[in-house]
Amino acid sequence: MYVRVNRSDNVAIIVHPDGAAAGSELPGGIVARERIPQSHKIALRDFEPGDPILRYGQAIGRANRPIPMGSWVHEDLIEMPLPPPLDRLPLSTAVPATLPPLSGYTFEGYRNPDGSVGTRNILGIATTVQCVAPTVEYAARRIKTELLPRFPHVDDVVAVTHSYGCGVAINAPGAAVPIATLRHISLHANMAAQPLVVSLGCEKMQPALLFSHDFPVLETGNVIRLQDHRGFAEMVSLIMEAAEKRLAVLDRRRRQTCPASDLVVGLQCGGSDAFSGVTCNPAVGAAADLLVRAGATVMFSEVTEVRDAIHLLTPRAETPDIARALIREMQWYDDYLAGGRTDRSANTTPGNKRGGLANIVEKALGSVAKAGSTAIRAVASHGEKVTAKGLVFAATPASDFICGTQQLASMNMHVFTTGEGSPYGLALVPVIKVSSRTALAEKWHDLIDIDAGRIATGNATVEDVGMELFRLMLDAASGRKTWAEHWGLANALAPFNPGPVT
Ligand code: CA
Repeated sequence: MYVRVNRSDNVAIIVHPDGAAAGSELPGGIVARERIPQSHKIALRDFEPGDPILRYGQAIGRANRPIPMGSWVHEDLIEMPLPPPLDRLPLSTAVPATLPPLSGYTFEGYRNPDGSVGTRNILGIATTVQCVAPTVEYAARRIKTELLPRFPHVDDVVAVTHSYGCGVAINAPGAAVPIATLRHISLHANMAAQPLVVSLGCEKMQPALLFSHDFPVLETGNVIRLQDHRGFAEMVSLIMEAAEKRLAVLDRRRRQTCPASDLVVGLQCGGSDAFSGVTCNPAVGAAADLLVRAGATVMFSEVTEVRDAIHLLTPRAETPDIARALIREMQWYDDYLAGGRTDRSANTTPGNKRGGLANIVEKALGSVAKAGSTAIRAVASHGEKVTAKGLVFAATPASDFICGTQQLASMNMHVFTTGEGSPYGLALVPVIKVSSRTALAEKWHDLIDIDAGRIATGNATVEDVGMELFRLMLDAASGRKTWAEHWGLANALAPFNPGPVT
């Protein structure tokens, strides 16, 4: 059995977990000329050198030699095309019609004074610099064991530590990205949008710099500066005192019924395979359409996985200005990669290729399926907080832990699709993991939240899994734990720093 996504495709993906044996006959009278592994491509016709190889109805490259029908079409046989040129893209030429609104879907969340809604009630201790991280982590461990049991309505205590804050060119243009990201995370909706910050004292990212645009964080005793205090024990007890006061406030909060429009969902994929674009990513796209219809915010990101599909996205931008903003983000990243003497093809991993993805073009065409079918309503630059409703492109690198960190600036819910598998999680938001294949969901039965592999085997439709995911998002937003939360899996924060280190 194989899967062909678009009628014009001249290659298809092998579905059976054991692959296709040499000589086996597939639908349409195609005979496999060699063994082809699961999720890899089979030629549905003969190719001459230079012929386009079509998947998703798009050329993922050209044959670099004759390829007879029934062959395994792997990366060595495919010449990768150049990315779509950015200076002649269609702008807002095919803006999708608004879908009918979806009402009546709610979740139980925590309303914050700034209008944001938390899906968790967490005591977060933000930090200005990596130097203080072990001290804050030490204090957080003690807070969790000694104080938290007295405050049953608080979900968790999180030391919001990171690798940034000093030894960097803090005034370089690139520094604005990690600073903005960390500012937004320090005021995260799941931390009641109220900061509690530990600073060292001599670091480049001073609290005044971190919160220069915000309400008077600095005057309200929310900042503890370690160099002002005598000895480690005094530092820890000051952090614990501040934490206890904050816990008492957080413990009085209760969940309230909130419309689904209060969700801000970040989408990303990690460890993709050739099924990702057929099963989990389209299912996430279906859920994204439901969220948009319900008035929520849905962010897709990962510039290097959007770049080769940009010609399919600029027509969907609601206005030419939004299309130009998309192009601006592509250009920025092209230049960033060129500065490192590389390009978007550096994105693909050995696991992607083992999983059947020949190159970044094929990966990108599958990746953007997460964005569903609605109009693109806004574009946010790296580190910028997303405020628009609807489908938003929020520029981030594709790196899982960096994309997740960047999206945390805005999101209160995270969806992560995977083909090869990753036990990824974040401390501050629920992470729902969706597998591209049933075999992965079975192997990792205690890590994968939803199996989208049923779409490839015909046991569920894209719409079925999309609705299941939409409902699970509302449940998880109301407090139901995801597998990553069940095990306490939280990847370290890794803010994107395009600026120089000193
Ligand atoms: Ca990723």
